[in-house]
Amino acid sequence: MFRKVLIANRGEIAVRIARACRCMGVRSVAVYSKEDAKSLHVQLADQRICIGEGPARGNYLNIDMVIQAALNMGCDAVHPGYGFLSENSEFARKCEENGLTFIGPSADVIDRMGNKSAARKTMMEAGVPVVPGTKEPVTDPAAALEEAEKIGFPVMIKASSGGGGKGMRAAFDEEEFTRMFSIAQHESANAFGDDTMYIEKLILHPRHVEVQIIADNEGNVVALGERDCSVQRNNQKLIEESPSPVVSSKMRKKMCEAAILAARTAGYTNAGTIEFIVDRDRNFYFMEMNTRIQVEHGVTEMVTDTDLVIEQIRIAAGEPLSFKQEDIQPRGHAIECRINAEIPEMNFMPSPGKITNLLLPAGNGVRVDSALYTGYTVPSEYDSMIAKILVHAADRDAAIAKMRAALDETLITGINTNLDFQYRILDTETFRNGEADTGFVAKFMSGGN
Ligand code: ADP
Ligand code: ADP
Ligand code: MG
Repeated sequence: MFRKVLIANRGEIAVRIARACRCMGVRSVAVYSKEDAKSLHVQLADQRICIGEGPARGNYLNIDMVIQAALNMGCDAVHPGYGFLSENSEFARKCEENGLTFIGPSADVIDRMGNKSAARKTMMEAGVPVVPGTKEPVTDPAAALEEAEKIGFPVMIKASSGGGGKGMRAAFDEEEFTRMFSIAQHESANAFGDDTMYIEKLILHPRHVEVQIIADNEGNVVALGERDCSVQRNNQKLIEESPSPVVSSKMRKKMCEAAILAARTAGYTNAGTIEFIVDRDRNFYFMEMNTRIQVEHGVTEMVTDTDLVIEQIRIAAGEPLSFKQEDIQPRGHAIECRINAEIPEMNFMPSPGKITNLLLPAGNGVRVDSALYTGYTVPSEYDSMIAKILVHAADRDAAIAKMRAALDETLITGINTNLDFQYRILDTETFRNGEADTGFVAKFMSGGN
């Protein structure tokens, strides 16, 4: 096992990793920016090292700085969390070159799955159902239009290097396509330094359903069931749950088999997620693979009684998976609400600032992953997600009731949050009936739910 793990992240996921290390008797080191000096992850890790100030570019995203910190502190492994450098193959490669174990898949696998267009091709060839669309990337607008017409409108234009909803635009006809292709391509060139695109059939009123997988170095690949992440705003997840209200046991079996095939084809090790999009007829199609631990991994942990972060560390240290496929018998229903420091009434403008009073929910089957404490100042430099509230109950109705109670008792003063907004979504008939597709939040906000 590792002696000391560097946590290359901040916020709730850094806290999550520090806790896992503590449970395992592994020492941990936090990196932090000046703005984060008083953050919880810095206090919970065994040791800490400042790596700069200001926006993430100069610290959490600075590969050489993070690696130097790990070496200086005598670490033998690095956990990247999610976001930041977690899907950066150059970082993974440099870790290995410097004798640090990257807690995640190999750099080659990150490369193979990180290019979304190339990943589609790999999956098509392996026989995994993929959203109908281009097999090769496109850059030329005229050639792209030809492809779009072959697929048939409406289509989704996507960036090969895309992520976080960037470089993605829908188009319903030729005129719109030409306009949107140019916008999406520019956005991608700016955000990712890559203007190669691909085109997919736009799935109308889809559900986002993803399968958690985990694989060790001995060829064991286990699927831990699905998460439904259809409640999204601007293609960003707001509420996640497991199991999905639209997945039958027969469909689950097929999705898990497809996910395992995808992971095996990619030569995957460690924790990862296969994202599928599900159409109204319950056909599911591969969308992309996320080669890291995800924000919403907790809902899977609750229904499968596993600890995915501990498992990630064990696998990276060369140990076999601690469970087999037949040990995974999901139980009950889990829901997660992402809590953001923002003002929903002002177009979700971030709301950083000092937390003057805090009461987080607790009780039977309630879990809170956060980095908050009374007196903590949420900095303006980073992501606005400040907490995740999760519940687990015997069935979906009971889980919704428990989440309402949990949100109700939560008190966060000094800053604005989306607590109320989440409560109102949970209270809609559409959500309660398990009928929310990815367009639901937009419809809810325009008053038409
Ligand atoms: P990212 O890399 O930004 O996560 P994804 O390819 O996973 O991008 O897509 C993000 C979200 O966009 C999905 O969860 C879904 O809501 C929507 N989306 C993506 N592709 C399609 C499509 N072909 N049709 C309809 N919606 C889509
Ligand atoms: P998950 O897929 O695990 O639910 P998200 O897609 O919400 O997670 O992304 C995880 C975190 O990483 C979020 O904080 C998000 O803002 C950030 N993120 C994701 N993709 C990018 C990207 N391409 N560039 C910058 N930040 C990103
Ligand atoms: Mg995605």
